[in-house]
Order: sequence, then structure tokens, then C-alpha cells
Amino acid sequence: MKKGNIGVTTENIFPVIKKFLYSDHEIFLRELVSNAIDATQKLKTLSSCGEYKGELGELKVTVSIDKENGTLTVSDHGIGMTAEDIDKYINQIAFSGAEEFLEKYKDNANTIIGHFGLGFYSAFMVAKKVVIKSQSYKDGAQAVKWECDGSPEYSMEQIEKDNRGTDIILYIDDENKDFLEQSRIDTLLKKYCRFLPIPVISGKEQEWKDGKYVDTDKDKVINETAPAWMKKPSELKDEDYLKFYNELYPGQDEPLFWIHLNVDFPFTLTGILYFPKIKNNFDINKNRIQLYCNQVFVTDSVEGVVPEFLMLLQGVIDSPDIPLNVSRSYLQSDAAVKKISTYITKKVSSRLEEIFKADRNEFEKKWDDIKIFIEYGMLSDEKFRDAGKKFTLLKDTDGKYFTLDEYKQLIGASQTDKDGNLIHLYSTDPIAQFTYIKAATDKGYNVLLMDGQLDSHFIGLLEQQIEKSQFVRVDSDVIDNLIRKENKKEVLLTSAQRNILTGIFNSQIPTVENSQFIVSFEAMSENDSPIVITQNEYMRRMKEMAAFQPGMSFYGEMPDSYNLIVNTEHPLIVKIRENADNDIASTISPISKSIDDNNAEITKIRDTHKDGKLSDEDNAKISTLENATKALRDDESKALSDYAATQPMVRQLVDLALLGNGLLKGEALNAFINRSVSLL
Ligand code: ADP
Repeated sequence: MKKGNIGVTTENIFPVIKKFLYSDHEIFLRELVSNAIDATQKLKTLSSCGEYKGELGELKVTVSIDKENGTLTVSDHGIGMTAEDIDKYINQIAFSGAEEFLEKYKDNANTIIGHFGLGFYSAFMVAKKVVIKSQSYKDGAQAVKWECDGSPEYSMEQIEKDNRGTDIILYIDDENKDFLEQSRIDTLLKKYCRFLPIPVISGKEQEWKDGKYVDTDKDKVINETAPAWMKKPSELKDEDYLKFYNELYPGQDEPLFWIHLNVDFPFTLTGILYFPKIKNNFDINKNRIQLYCNQVFVTDSVEGVVPEFLMLLQGVIDSPDIPLNVSRSYLQSDAAVKKISTYITKKVSSRLEEIFKADRNEFEKKWDDIKIFIEYGMLSDEKFRDAGKKFTLLKDTDGKYFTLDEYKQLIGASQTDKDGNLIHLYSTDPIAQFTYIKAATDKGYNVLLMDGQLDSHFIGLLEQQIEKSQFVRVDSDVIDNLIRKENKKEVLLTSAQRNILTGIFNSQIPTVENSQFIVSFEAMSENDSPIVITQNEYMRRMKEMAAFQPGMSFYGEMPDSYNLIVNTEHPLIVKIRENADNDIASTISPISKSIDDNNAEITKIRDTHKDGKLSDEDNAKISTLENATKALRDDESKALSDYAATQPMVRQLVDLALLGNGLLKGEALNAFINRSVSLL
């Protein structure tokens, strides 16, 4: 029997491994099973190139639990190890400064384990003693047994072994007894080993007999040895992709479509990415992309490997070239990883373009569901943005789809304003904004539907991307102001008329919570509505953004500001104006004149002191005049308000406009109904 010290420079590495790797200790099983798979694969390779001439036998990896003896064993029929192999691969752990290293990476067990070939030693995280029994594939090789109890001392001796391959026997320690439970082991194997290329067996299939589950003779195979992503796309039908998706994420809706990744230069990468159907709110933390390394599950936190916007996708990425075991910040700056990420972006965009070109109809049908990915991609990834312009669609309120170029063609002639800006009209809610959409379409304009979760951000991007373009919501002004043309009709009101009408309408706007209204005048067509309520595009966007961004609460707290636009061409408004001219103008005119006189007087006093320094006497005069003006204005308001109250049509028109925008509520709504009944 040979005895020796394991070649680590540290006095005792195992307590260190146990202590620091505690949180991740379940990965020992992944490490041992993948070693067994590797050994099996190596044998297959040797056999296929003629270097191994013996029988392969049944190649499988078995994980078995012996509760009585407290052991967990991983057995394979792979290449096995000779005493020299064990010496070389197990006894000489090729690194120095173990403690220092462990200290540095203590939070990430993966880092240490994979990176420094400590895979096998992870067994000591859960075992008080580990035994290797191995027989090499080499002709006439002597079987050996290696044993180590967690101290840096090991023993090795010759033994008899029935067959080629390796058994790794773990004497599970007291704190880790759960690894002797079949269900625990099965769960772990399902997590890490589900798609390994060699059958992994764990216990027996069970059947229901005499009121309980009992083992049958049949081995329970944990894994699917030929997962879809390892096959050639040409070998797979749609059903196969859907079936695989369902295996990965049971119970989910069918994905919209998928992308089979398959590269071998300049790095090796395979995988299938699925576009899931996202229902209302994204659930990015569930059912994420899984990262594999040669079919061994590594992680489902793929930040850094997959471009951020593709984190919404699902599926599998398998690459031996991703340095999986190093820290995430390193991962993100790694050149290979960057290339992979760029490749995936390119592949996704070219596949989308392909689908778009091959079957536009199908693409349009899925657009509403995929647009969130594409918009997110274009917002967050410059490379994808350029590619995405080719297949980004705009949908109008009639449900028709256009590419960006097509849409430019469609609206170019009609929706370019007098300054050469291409005005895109959009609606976020075709039912609520129906009258505005109709006003626009009646003029031959097109209105886009922008009701997606990311649309408000996407609009900002489109404005940057489409030359001289502006996006305005249909209800943000009257249509002739949204798209200003040269021949726009002027409002023909004298300033006295304007003053009187403003006062009249102002006085009849009911109080609407958290809202304010500004009366203005437009000469629309006499067929347009008498009063239109609009909300300024800029202010609305600011408020919408404030809802997302903490620093902007200033905008968020402001009331909603609406324009109450009076159509001076509408016959009813003309009537109101004529009535006012007859009934109230003569009352208002002297008040207005006095106000004007006062203002003129104030200006005169100020003008005599060009340097801005007024005498006390002048200041007192101005103050008196200002007070007088204020009183006059109050009189004027009161007169107009009293007059307006005798003209139910004014209030009625205001209320109707508010009603059309869902702004008439509570008491005001009740008053409107009563008034309407009495008018009838
Ligand atoms: P790594 O797998 O990263 O090389 P390990 O510590 O897990 O590091 O294993 C070290 C070496 O021991 C392996 O490279 C392999 O040569 C050998 N080895 C481990 N397990 C087996 C096994 N089941 N059969 C044959 N060789 C093995």
C-alpha cells in the first residue's frame, strides 16, 4: 500500500473547501457526474479512432445510494484510471496559495471549483471520506483503490475490480445526510444532468402496488441524452421544437417562434432561443435562459453572456467556450463573451428578418406579441437597432401594418407640415380617443396605434431615427394645429370679443379634480366639434416620464393641464358670440376701457423713469392703479360669469366636451344630466 500527501501547499485544504464552499455544496454531484461522463466520452472517442479495441459494453453512469453504509456512489464504465493516473490527476493538485485564493473567491464556489480543476475535491464538501475504485481501459491494467478521509493524507492500494471504469464512493458526513435521500439526489440530477449525453441512472422506476409505490427492476434514467439543441436544425420539425420547449417550461403557452443557434467558429455555441408569449407583465425572473457547458447545466443567470434585451427570451445556450466558472464582472468584460453576445444579437436579428421576409403575414400576426422584444432590443442595443429597422412594424388604428419605409411613403405627402416636419399621429387608446382619431382620418390622415408597454419610450427613439419626424398624440391639439399647413384659417375675433368669450367659457368650466383648463380659440371647420379638449404632448410626456423616474416628481405633482379649444366657426359658437355681442358687450366695454386706461397710465409712469428708479409717489400711484385694475377685472369676471349663467348652451357645450373625454364626473355630471333633461 502506498501512502502519501496530496500535493497542496496548504496544510489542510479540506476544511477550507468545506467552509467556504458551503453554500454551493450541491454542485459536487454535478462535478462527479460530469467527470464520469467525460471518462465515458473519452472511451468512446478512443474506441472510434481504434485506440481502444475492447468491448464498450453498456455505457452508463449510475448514481446509487446505500443508506445503511451512508454512502453515495457515482459509477461509470469509462476509461478509468491507473495508479499513475490517480497520482497525476488526483494527488497533484496543481496550484499554490490555495488559502489566499479561496479567501479571494470565497463567495463563488464555482470559480474555484471549475477553474482550478478542483471538481473532484468538491466531494469533500459533503463527505468525511472518499474512496475511488478504478480500473483503466488499458490492457492488463491493475485496478486500484484510493482513499482519503479529508486530511491531506491519502492511501492507495491494489484491488480486484469486476469491470472497467471508476466508482467514486462518498461517505456522506453527518451534516449532509440529505444527500442520502433518493428524492434529493433525483432533484439535483434533474437540475444539472438532465441533458447529459450518456444515460444517468438513479435508482429504479417505481410502480403502484398494494397501496404504495415500490421499486421495479427497471433502471430509472434521469436524462435525455440527445436534447433538441444538439441536433441539426434540418433534423427537427416544428413539433420537436415545441416539445422541447414544453420539456423546459412545462405548462407555458406555445412560444411565438424560435432560433436555433449553431456556430463552431470563432467559438463553439449551440442552443435554441424561444420567443415566449408574454402576457401582461414580464416575468423575467422565472423560466429564464439556461446556460449549459457540454450539456451540463451551469446556471440560469446569463447576464453578460446574453445581451440584456434578450434576457426576455427563453431556451438553452450551450458553449464550452464561455468561461463559466469565473465571476460575473469578469464575464462581462471577457472578449469571447462579448463576441458571443454580439453573435447572438446578430443571429436573432437576421432570423427575425428572415421570418419577416419569408412570411410577412405570419410575422404581422405575431407582431403584437413580439414587438415588446423588438422595441426593447432597439431601445437598449445599438447593433440591434440598425438591424431592427428593417422589420420593425408600425400598426395603425385600422389594424394595418407598415414598415418604417412604407409608412413614410404613406404619410409623406399628406402629413408633412409647412415646416417640412413629418407628423406621425398616434393614439394610445382608440376607444377613449375615438373623436380625435375620426377628426384626423376624416382629413385623410393616418393614426398609429401605440398602446404597448414600451411605446412611449419607443416613440422617442423613432423621433431620433426618422429624419425630421414628430410624434403627436391625436388628442394633444386640434388636428389643424398638429399638422400645420400654410393655408390655415385665421381666428376672426376682435380682442374685445376674445376677452368676452374667454371670460364666458372660463366661468362655465366645472371643477375637475387635479386638472386645469386653458381656453383658446381656433377657426376649425363648421363641421368640427364646437369645443375640443386636448392635452399638450410635451406636458403629458413629462408627466408619463415622471411616473418612471424618481427625480422628476415635480412634473408628477402638477395637475393635468388641458386646452379647451373653442371652434369659432361652429354655428353654435357663432351664436354664442353674437348673443354676447348684443347682450353683454356694452356692459363689458367701459370696464375694459377703464382697465386699458389704467394700464396705459401705469406704462406711462414707468416710461418716464427709463432707469427703473421710481419715486415713492410714483410707486404709490402705480399701486393704486393696480388695485383699481384688479377690482375692475373682478367686476368684469362677475359680469361675464353672471351673463354666462343665463346662457345654458355655454355650460352645455363645455360639459359635452368634458364628457367626451371622461372628465365629467360626480356632481358636475349630475348637473349636466338634469340640465339636459330640462333643455329637452
Ligand atoms: P477536472 O475534471 O476539471 O479536470 P477534477 O478534479 O474533477 O478536475 O478531475 C481531475 C482529473 O481526474 C480529470 O481530469 C480526470 O483525468 C480524472 N478523473 C476524475 N474523475 C474521473 C473518472 N470518473 N474517470 C476517469 N478519470 C477521472
